[in-house]
Amino acid sequence: MKKIIISIVVCIIGMLQINAQEGRIPAKGLAVYEAGGEFKTYEFTRHTLGDNDILIETMYASICHSDLHHTHQDWGTEKYPMVPGHEIVGKVVRVGKNVTKFKVGDYAGVGCMVNSCGECSYCKAGLEQYCKKVTMTYHAIDWAHDNEITQGGYSNNIVVKEHFAVLVPKNADLKKVAPLLCAGITTYSPLKQSNVKKGDNVAIAGFGGLGHMAVKYAVELGANVTVFDITEDKRGDAIRMGAVKYVNVNNLDELNGMDNSFDFVLSSIPAMYNPAMYLKMTKYKGDFAIVGLPAFNNQPTLKVMDFVFYAGRNVYGSQIGGMKETQEMIDYSVAHNIYPDVEIIKAEGATVTDAYQKVLAGKVKFRYVIDMTTLK
Ligand code: NDP
Ligand code: ZN
Repeated sequence: MKKIIISIVVCIIGMLQINAQEGRIPAKGLAVYEAGGEFKTYEFTRHTLGDNDILIETMYASICHSDLHHTHQDWGTEKYPMVPGHEIVGKVVRVGKNVTKFKVGDYAGVGCMVNSCGECSYCKAGLEQYCKKVTMTYHAIDWAHDNEITQGGYSNNIVVKEHFAVLVPKNADLKKVAPLLCAGITTYSPLKQSNVKKGDNVAIAGFGGLGHMAVKYAVELGANVTVFDITEDKRGDAIRMGAVKYVNVNNLDELNGMDNSFDFVLSSIPAMYNPAMYLKMTKYKGDFAIVGLPAFNNQPTLKVMDFVFYAGRNVYGSQIGGMKETQEMIDYSVAHNIYPDVEIIKAEGATVTDAYQKVLAGKVKFRYVIDMTTLK
């Protein structure tokens, strides 16, 4: 009798598992299968649509330098196959029964996070990115879904809690929206935290995907913006975007007379550099915000002595932004017509692999956006 009951229980559990499997959502994406590997097509499934979830059919996903850091294991060991992508925009095609923010047919954006605990002080303060249980969009262990590994936006769909998606206004320029979900919010947020305003002197170091968004927001706020990068190729672009000055840090002459002159400095540099140089340029009571994340084995350093010699400057790091602020940034960007400069590419393994090489070589102006509808 005992054996029969056990068999029935095992059978019921098995059926439930099959049903759970059946509810899973088939997906297809572009993945790397090893560190620094080439992109190839990858078929997988996503977790079932929960009552608070939406299913998004991806239209565009863009390439952030963080995706390169991950695929190259700059920040530690990763799990493969890995589908990167945390700058995502698409159309809502299904909604769970408790969903109120979205309806089928709306446009939605997803950034770096897909879940958090919802209860801690950070979550309650709208700073979900600092929650201990935050689940990143890809390469993360999804504690809410049997610890499966999340997969990102270089794919034909994504299922996400509605709280972690932003409503993209219908009149938005959709081809250019995806980069706002990381490059946009990561620069908008510290500009707001530091209360950058009209007439402030602002320095933006690293003029790539993040940096050029920072320039656009700071110019819109009325600041006098100076751009720092390592190439001549982008001098004209900086001026076109409204910067008052461009400094090629490889030309030492151009750095003369810069000390103690900026109310706000933002570094989005992803490689080795000298942060003390930027600290010196920050005015007394000014802010130096750091968002760039060079590899673990190539870390720029600030000495304790630097903080004392250049006392009174506020140095802080910043990660993306919370969901409330991300929605605010999307609405602000669309209303003020602030979008990234993008190059649209096809969702083909070889094309995306090539695009990664070009980002590393500094050959993109300023964000590659993958048209996910071209995925075969
Ligand atoms: P990009 O590659 O698009 O841009 C980086 C820019 O920095 C390029 O223009 C590059 O020049 C320039 N650069 C490189 N070295 C120097 C240097 N020594 N001095 C001045 N400029 C330099 O990267 P992203 O904008 O996508 O990302 C930037 C960094 O921000 C990455 O480390 C990324 O991981 C991090 N990030 C952090 C986030 C956060 O929440 N804190 C969120 C998103 C990204 P060139 O192109 O000529 O090589
Ligand atoms: Zn990013």
